Amino acid sequence: MTSKTWRTATTLVHGGTTRSQHGETSEALFLTQGYVYESAEAAEARFKGEAEGFIYSRYANPTVDMFEKRMCALEGAEDARATATGMAAVSAALLCQVKAGDHVVAARALFGSCRWVVEKLMARYGVETTLVDGRDIENWKKAVRPNTKVFFLESPTNPTLEVIDIAAVATLANEIGARVVVDNVFATPLFQKPLELGAHIVVYSTTKHIDGQGRCLGGVILSEKEWIDENLHDYFRHTGPSMSPFNAWTMLKGLETLPLRVRQQTESATRIADALDGRKGVNRVIYPGRADHPQANIIAKQMSGGSTLVAIDIDGGKEAAFAFQNALEIIRISNNLGDAKSLITHPATTTHKNLAEEDRLELGIGAGTLRLSVGLEDTDDLIEDIDRALSAI
Ligand SMILES: *Cc1c(COP(=O)(O)O)cnc(C)c1O
Repeated sequence: MTSKTWRTATTLVHGGTTRSQHGETSEALFLTQGYVYESAEAAEARFKGEAEGFIYSRYANPTVDMFEKRMCALEGAEDARATATGMAAVSAALLCQVKAGDHVVAARALFGSCRWVVEKLMARYGVETTLVDGRDIENWKKAVRPNTKVFFLESPTNPTLEVIDIAAVATLANEIGARVVVDNVFATPLFQKPLELGAHIVVYSTTKHIDGQGRCLGGVILSEKEWIDENLHDYFRHTGPSMSPFNAWTMLKGLETLPLRVRQQTESATRIADALDGRKGVNRVIYPGRADHPQANIIAKQMSGGSTLVAIDIDGGKEAAFAFQNALEIIRISNNLGDAKSLITHPATTTHKNLAEEDRLELGIGAGTLRLSVGLEDTDDLIEDIDRALSAI
């Protein structure tokens, strides 16, 4: 059940819902691996694609299907495949469309595991890759080769919240016949619509804001039906990165409250970024909702909201950053993000520890850099927690 005329909040409560013969209010959890057929002929027809229906939950499942349809309605996509994790979504979206001898250009500021897939894994299978500073469109142009098939980027980036002009990258991709894959986790599906900006494929780690309460891992790939049929369909069925029905059910419930949570977390993040700015002990605050963000003009063009994340550079390097984290009482030290609980991490020693120091510095990840994911606690409590920890350094 989905209508094109529904606004976002309505779509997120009702979109994609199908009901069983019991007419349940809440989405049913179909915790099943397989499906039985009325007859041998019915099984044959379903395998031939002549009759509608489910075959095996590695391919599709009614609860997962509801989640995929609700995500399609939210994103404005024709089709989707939900995956077990965000990394399953990223790796499937990239690997399903390349072969040995193809070339991929990716922005160098990527989530750690995404960078490993692009730099290390693809190379093993003969796919050439070039990493660029994605903030300048000229770098993308210079990296193009005759065999360039895919552009891959994340915006805002993890952890330093750099922003890439998605429409400009998509225009270039269309000129050379390449496809743009956008990892839209940090923007959330509410604040940025990559498909409307010209991107061809959008991926999420639904582990983050879509679950939003720190419970289940998940991911999703969204695109045109034709691209999914031609590239992802067989890859997905035969390599098996599918989402579990239980996790899809949890994600459906997460989507119902997504706008309420993200709005509240973004309001808190904005207040926290403002409170941190200019404070003694804080070198720099990077927040996509602030006028002093280096790419505020692109943000105004492609995002309809800020972020639930704030990047902070603490004066005094690793020692001060560790002392600050250890002094926090409400904000917990964790490398996850998008949770109802506020979480903080020191990228140089956790999420980005595998990068060479020069690569880290190139991305603006210094010894004092911290990434704060703002949760649903009272904003005043969070600001007091930060104040207390800053004075403890
Ligand atoms: C978390 C994250 C991923 C990976 O998602 P998992 O669900 O942990 O596999 C990929 N990209 C970005 C930007 C992320 O934040």
